[in-house]
Amino acid sequence: MSNQTKKIYLDYAATTPVDKEVLNAMMPYFSDKFGNASSVHSFGQEAIAAIDQAREKIANLLNCDFSEIIFTGSATEANNMAINGLIQNCTTYRRSSVSGINKLHIISTNIEHESVLEPLKELERAGHEITYLKVNKDGFISVSDLEKSIKNNTVLVSIIYANNEIGTIQSVKEIGKLLEKINTKRKEQGLNRIYFHTDAVQAFQFLECRPDWLKVDLLIFSGHKIYGPKGVGGLYVRKIGPIGFIGPIIKGGGQEFGLRSGTENVAGIVGLAKAVGLVFKNRETRLKKILHLRNQLLDYIIKYNKDIKLNGSLDPSTSLRTSNRLPNNLNIRFPNISNETLLIALDQNGLAVSAGSACSARASKASYVLNALGLTEKQAKESIRITIGKDTTEKEIKKAAEIINKALLNFKNLRI
Ligand code: PLP
Repeated sequence: MSNQTKKIYLDYAATTPVDKEVLNAMMPYFSDKFGNASSVHSFGQEAIAAIDQAREKIANLLNCDFSEIIFTGSATEANNMAINGLIQNCTTYRRSSVSGINKLHIISTNIEHESVLEPLKELERAGHEITYLKVNKDGFISVSDLEKSIKNNTVLVSIIYANNEIGTIQSVKEIGKLLEKINTKRKEQGLNRIYFHTDAVQAFQFLECRPDWLKVDLLIFSGHKIYGPKGVGGLYVRKIGPIGFIGPIIKGGGQEFGLRSGTENVAGIVGLAKAVGLVFKNRETRLKKILHLRNQLLDYIIKYNKDIKLNGSLDPSTSLRTSNRLPNNLNIRFPNISNETLLIALDQNGLAVSAGSACSARASKASYVLNALGLTEKQAKESIRITIGKDTTEKEIKKAAEIINKALLNFKNLRI
């Protein structure tokens, strides 16, 4: 590839570039308005005012209370905080109505992000019980399976809104409605509330995420997946009762309403709020454009490669092909071609895509998400993830398809 040829990036589920408008909003908070938000003097006041404004903006857009938005250092941290903060509150501080029960039950899925799965595994090791709902071959859990797995000691349901590898969208609103009904009954029976957590990191850019609409108690989002900065995440925590239902995981100076200590990342928080604002302003336009490009790319690839398989749900017969899958996501299996080899060949020709989530790709492990769909290890290792961004052009899509088709042709010729 010549140095003049612009590389094509189609790995927007791994991370996105910071939007120029976001960067401009952040810039003053590095060197000019650099105060510590906890300081009493005017530098500190400037910083806390910026954080307050950011919080207010996000709260308004999500239609929730100012105090229900907590800033963290990443969505990974926010997921850990939601899960461990709740369990710790139930067990150590015995603040919840489940006090007295030592073994708690949590319901989740087998396709959560690692930042949910790992804390859950640790809780399991500590003696709690976790039900991992299985997904079907298209990547969806069954709401009735969820309902059947509820127990008296269930305290948390944690369901990923849209999966980072296959883009499948779970019925979060339906689950929220169901849990609301169940919680009303449980209250009458003197049982504890079941809290509902969703990891909305990948969904946030495209789907309705207002917590009241979804009926969730905890909702997570991340700056760098929505053209904001890396190293900043957000957590919505429903205000229930006077003392709240989650406790702090990171303890210290008591920032973020005592829930997340540590000097605030003012520039990052300002950037996150700007990025969230742009999502809400441009959601429909982004969605339509990206969906069109995604479908175009799929058509180009299918035209020359009839034997490819699509992982996750996507109905090729409908013109929109939206069926419960994020509009930016393609996860394709190329039978008998190793994704590692293909990825390198594509990268050498100027196209950056991924072999699954950024974490499993680096470790070169077969994806547990694809395994959960029923794919064998070999099949999972033949799959690549392509994710399209808001600034991707038709020209890039055409070029990307050419690079993919050429690489596949080379592999096929080599095999003959
Ligand atoms: N949840 C999902 C679904 C993700 O895709 C990611 C990032 O890949 C995360 C959580 C973690 O986000 P962060 O990079 O902000 O820690």
